[in-house]
Amino acid sequence: MSTCIVCHKPLQDAPPVVECPNGHPVHRDPCLKQWFMTGKEPQCPFCRERYPTNVQKFFDECQKERKVREQKAAEKHAAEQAKVNPAVKEKREVFQRVQNLRAQQKYDAALNLLFDIQEKYPNDPEISFQIGNTFFIQQKYGLAVNHLMKAVKIEFKQPTAFYLLTRSFMALEMPEKAAWAAERALVHLGPEETEYREFCKTVVNQKLNPSSPGT
Ligand SMILES: [Zn+2]
Ligand SMILES: [Zn+2]
Repeated sequence: MSTCIVCHKPLQDAPPVVECPNGHPVHRDPCLKQWFMTGKEPQCPFCRERYPTNVQKFFDECQKERKVREQKAAEKHAAEQAKVNPAVKEKREVFQRVQNLRAQQKYDAALNLLFDIQEKYPNDPEISFQIGNTFFIQQKYGLAVNHLMKAVKIEFKQPTAFYLLTRSFMALEMPEKAAWAAERALVHLGPEETEYREFCKTVVNQKLNPSSPGT
């Protein structure tokens, strides 16, 4: 084959070219890149054979770029929401201030803001998450667990909350509960959130294959 399996144009039109183990050639950019940005696995667009490991890095880069694009779209969406919904706007402003306060290690001030707005919106999972996250940063893991659990009870699909719960339960030396949270985090964590995934996998594996105590 002397043409790209995606765009069917000559390979020399857009070098470099990537080949799958079955010899299907594809332009690396934009053809394979666009394919990788929509897929979950580094597979050949033609035969779905998995690419060798040297293509994995390129795949990870594409996934990262996808994530950045999605975040930008989400931010744009949130900004539009804020225009029509005053509650969304108010929360966004508070979270921005909370972030700045946390960066300056002014945790009590950050928590005061969050508890104030929680009185107004008592069942908001994002507010509970931010309170839990603030306690987590302060290494107050018991308090972090209380608020993060509230957040995931209101809205289950919160992988970052489950990730922080995993870390908190580990810090509290509660490995069973940590594994429970890690399993739930892994369901919704994206493939590009490598660091979070690796930590959660380790916790789950420890539960499955507990090493002898004292090691
Ligand atoms: Zn092509
Ligand atoms: Zn192929």
